[in-house]
Amino acid sequence: MKKIAVIGTGYVGLVSGTCFADSGNQVTCCDIDQLKIKGLTEGIMPIYEPGLKELVHKNVRKGSLKFSANISQEIKDAEVILIAVGTPMTSSGKADLTYVKQVAQSIGENLNSYKVIVTKSTVPVGTGKLIESVIREYDNGKHPFDVVSNPEFLREGTAIKDTMNMERAVIGATSEKAFQLIAEIHKPFTANIVKASLETAEIIKYAANAFLATKISFINDIANICERVGADVTEVSTGIGLDSRIGNKFLQAGVGFGGSCFPKDTAALLHISEDCGYDFKLIKAVIETNEGQRVQLVKKLLLALGSLQGKTISVLGLAFKPDTDDIRSSPALDIIPYLTEQGAIVKAFDPIAIVEAKKQIGYQCTYSEDIYETITDSDACMILTDWQDVKTLDLPLVKHLMKQPLIVDGRNLFELEMMKQLGFTYLSVGRPAIQ
Ligand code: NAD
Repeated sequence: MKKIAVIGTGYVGLVSGTCFADSGNQVTCCDIDQLKIKGLTEGIMPIYEPGLKELVHKNVRKGSLKFSANISQEIKDAEVILIAVGTPMTSSGKADLTYVKQVAQSIGENLNSYKVIVTKSTVPVGTGKLIESVIREYDNGKHPFDVVSNPEFLREGTAIKDTMNMERAVIGATSEKAFQLIAEIHKPFTANIVKASLETAEIIKYAANAFLATKISFINDIANICERVGADVTEVSTGIGLDSRIGNKFLQAGVGFGGSCFPKDTAALLHISEDCGYDFKLIKAVIETNEGQRVQLVKKLLLALGSLQGKTISVLGLAFKPDTDDIRSSPALDIIPYLTEQGAIVKAFDPIAIVEAKKQIGYQCTYSEDIYETITDSDACMILTDWQDVKTLDLPLVKHLMKQPLIVDGRNLFELEMMKQLGFTYLSVGRPAIQ
């Protein structure tokens, strides 16, 4: 049993803190957001993540998990400190380390005994060393400590399962003692342990996300070729994905990747490469292709409708993927403002993410958690998130409710033959148009 303080109680901090509590540690999740901490102490989850609420409540009842805004005290009391604050993208595309540096300073100011400081946030190479120097500066070199890079690989929507059944834990430690301690707290998760240097661990995280983003942009480029030559990208994905060297994951063509990680991490990796004098052409192309996918989808809609002026468009899905309320860099954030600029009346559906979306998109569109109400009387329907409610739509009813049966599908959810028989105009990605 270790005493762990998690600093930053967001998607990563809250999930991993709760899982470490469940696996036998004494955990305090801390945040500067006092409202978030107050809510959590009252049992209110700040995010939507399947199974999280139940696991938090279980561990709070058990006494192994608590929440605090008194970060200084929690630093003093902990043996292990996990840094899980945000590292958002700056306007230039670099990772913003403001919050990480703030935390390092408060660790330095409150260090009172040997502690292991673990970076879970995604940070550029060299940040571990930076954290070390900030802590040493504010502690005046009085206490021993070790810094460890232990990047997080959980996926929103399946975050608890991903943590409890971790495929691997990457541990980049500056001492064997710190490595052993962090390896030990991962034992219950039966993860493969990858032992690395601090710098190697930091780059593993970016390499993993950039590789997955590359797979997505690759298949989207193939999809764009398929559209021009009359081929079907979903069959191409099956045809190449059955090769075990390639694998079938992250080979679904569509509107492109979004979310809080891939766009910012590919941009940050590009900066890392520029900073060390390397021209990483591949990652530039991955980013460019991804940005183009959103434009392509809107072009299909424009081509089908002529003008969007006064047209009612139903948009299905605001979250960047299903089973999360996270809308960071979601396709809807780009597409909805564009549609309204073109004079369209937009009605948006999402089962979970409306509250978050309103903070960004505001009242440019109307929102509903009722999918059929959203679709009613629309001139076209755009599918942006593959929520279960969207996948299982009653299509004959949809056709009946729409002003005209036009679906532009950014997730390739439906069989072409079925859409043809139902009489839809159905424009998807990398597949022949049904019209
Ligand atoms: P988030 O925005 O959900 O949470 C960050 C939290 O940190 C917020 O609650 C914020 O109030 C808090 N915070 C900021 N400054 C603080 C400070 N000085 N002291 C205490 N708390 C502070 O972010 P997230 O999605 O959990 O991501 C955290 C990190 O993990 C990022 O670097 C991200 O790239 C990485 N990551 C995220 C995911 C994911 O799916 N979200 C997956 C893997 C890695």
